[in-house]
Amino acid sequence: MTKGKIGVTTDNIFPVIKKFLYSDHEIFLRELVANAVDASQKLKAIAGKGEFKGELGDLTIKVEADEKKHILTVTDRGIGMTAEEVDKYINQIAFSSAGEFLEKYKDQLESIIGHFGLGFYSAFMVSKKVEIESLSYKEGSKGVKWSCDGSPEFTMEESDRSERGTRITLYLDDDSKEFAEKRKVEELLRKYCKFMPVKIDFGSVIINDSEPLWTKTPSEIKDEEYLNFYRKLYPMKEDPLFWIHLNVDYPFNLTGILYFPKIKDRMEVTKDRIQLYCNQMFVTDSVENIVPDFLTLLYGVIDSPDIPLNVSRSYLQADSNVKKISTYITKKVADRLEEISKEKKEEFESKWDNLKIFIEYGMLTDEKFCERAMKFALFKTTDGKFIKYDDFTKLIEKEQKDKDKNVVYLYATDTTEQYQQIEAAKNKGYQVLLFDCQLDSHFVSLLESKIKNSRFARVDSDSVDSLIKKEDRQKPQLKEGEELDLESAFAAVLPNNASYNLVAENLGENAVPLLITQNEFMRRNREMSAIGGGLNYYSEMPEFYTLKLNCQNPLVMNIIKDLEEKTSVEADKFNKEKETVDQALKELDEATKDKKYDEITTEQRESRTSLNKQLDEIREKRKGVMTEFGKNNTLLKQVADLALLSNGMLKGKALSEFIERSLSLLK
Ligand code: ADP
Repeated sequence: MTKGKIGVTTDNIFPVIKKFLYSDHEIFLRELVANAVDASQKLKAIAGKGEFKGELGDLTIKVEADEKKHILTVTDRGIGMTAEEVDKYINQIAFSSAGEFLEKYKDQLESIIGHFGLGFYSAFMVSKKVEIESLSYKEGSKGVKWSCDGSPEFTMEESDRSERGTRITLYLDDDSKEFAEKRKVEELLRKYCKFMPVKIDFGSVIINDSEPLWTKTPSEIKDEEYLNFYRKLYPMKEDPLFWIHLNVDYPFNLTGILYFPKIKDRMEVTKDRIQLYCNQMFVTDSVENIVPDFLTLLYGVIDSPDIPLNVSRSYLQADSNVKKISTYITKKVADRLEEISKEKKEEFESKWDNLKIFIEYGMLTDEKFCERAMKFALFKTTDGKFIKYDDFTKLIEKEQKDKDKNVVYLYATDTTEQYQQIEAAKNKGYQVLLFDCQLDSHFVSLLESKIKNSRFARVDSDSVDSLIKKEDRQKPQLKEGEELDLESAFAAVLPNNASYNLVAENLGENAVPLLITQNEFMRRNREMSAIGGGLNYYSEMPEFYTLKLNCQNPLVMNIIKDLEEKTSVEADKFNKEKETVDQALKELDEATKDKKYDEITTEQRESRTSLNKQLDEIREKRKGVMTEFGKNNTLLKQVADLALLSNGMLKGKALSEFIERSLSLLK
């Protein structure tokens, strides 16, 4: 029997391993089974080359747990190790690299397992003693038994082992007894070893699928098999929409299957559904930084030996292989979507509502993907038709071009609420798109920047004619101060929690009398800030509406006539008063024009203050008169309520008053 001290520089690395790797204790089982898998596959490879002439036999790996004695064993029928090999691989290389490693990466210990020959030693995270019994496949080999109780001292002796391969026996620590419980072991095997490439037996049950679907040739796989694989991975989910089989071996190795899940609820955007494997060994289900952010919405598996494992997230992001992989996956996803959009047009359209959240999210967050997606993404019209961007532009570019040569893309966000405005636009022969997803307000701005000479406008943000201005219209001829008077009169009957700006326009005698609109830009910013896109300032501003008063509409003409009859005497008086004050102000301006501040007399200053005050008073008095007029004018109230109604802004008491008034007007 040999006794020795393992070549470690740090005196005793085990407490360190235990302490630092605490959070990941359970991965020891993955490491041991992975070693057993390696040993089995190496033997197959050697046999394949004809260098091993014996019987391969059944290579199934056996995991056994003794719940009472707290012992766990992993047994393989792989290449095994000779005493020299145990000495080399276990005593020297693994331990010394562990020692060096500890020196170098004291603060990054989390990341070392599995990458620097520490795999086997992770067994000490949960064991007070570990034994290796092994018999090499090489002819004439003798069995070897190695044992170590956690101190750097080990014993090594010859054994009478007659079975080819290796058995690792863990005598579990008192606080790690759970790892001999059947339930726990099975859970870990299913988590980490579900798809390992050699059969794994636990309690006479094979717990893994050693030839998972992604390792097979795509052209030989039926749709049903893809669906079944998905169902097995995510038993609770509805069937996916589409899938992509990834398969590349240059300049890096990567296979996998990505699924587009069916997202029912728009808020149901769960990440971390892609599982990452390394040669069929489960690594993690948190793949951020490996696949582009928007693709973390997908489900499925990625298997690549070229993704550095167990390194810090920030390191991962900077890794050039990972960057290439991320770019590759994005490209593949775009290729596949484009292909489906061409070859299975109808299916693509029918699934668009479920797909669009990925695609729009992808377009918003990934420049390259956006470029690609511009070619296959679809618009949905308020009539429920789907159409590619280019085709849509061709469809509308003649009719919906405004006087500045911009093509105006009209859209609605709610077909019920904006029904009237949609109809008005359609009657003009315009197409109206439907944007009813959370991302849409961000998305509209993106499209505006991507589609040349385009402008997007929500159908209710102005009158149809003003949304797509064909030529400059003439302003209505109103009397002095009349536009402001009308603003005061209408503001008096509209909800008082908002502010209004009235603009008199000629929109034609058949167009509605009054439109209440909200500036497209302001509204978009308000919505974006509401769903958290910065610009919080907008959500704090009061609602601000523009009132477009159609002075060619007969009802409005009546209101104006009435206003003039009832208030013109006073209006004239106010105008005269104002004129006098304006004149006095003008003279004062003249007198103080080129003077410095201290050359202006106190008298002049006081006079200015007083004149300005007079102006304010006149304005207030005038406003009072107009408010009074507005409140007492049934027709005006009716027109205002109709405008509110078509915006879905007439509610509660105001609504019932409107109905009563309408009925009495009908009498
Ligand atoms: P790694 O697997 O990363 O090389 P380990 O510490 O897990 O590091 O193992 C060190 C070496 O010990 C392996 O490279 C292999 O040569 C040998 N080894 C470990 N387990 C087995 C096994 N079950 N059968 C044969 N050789 C093994």
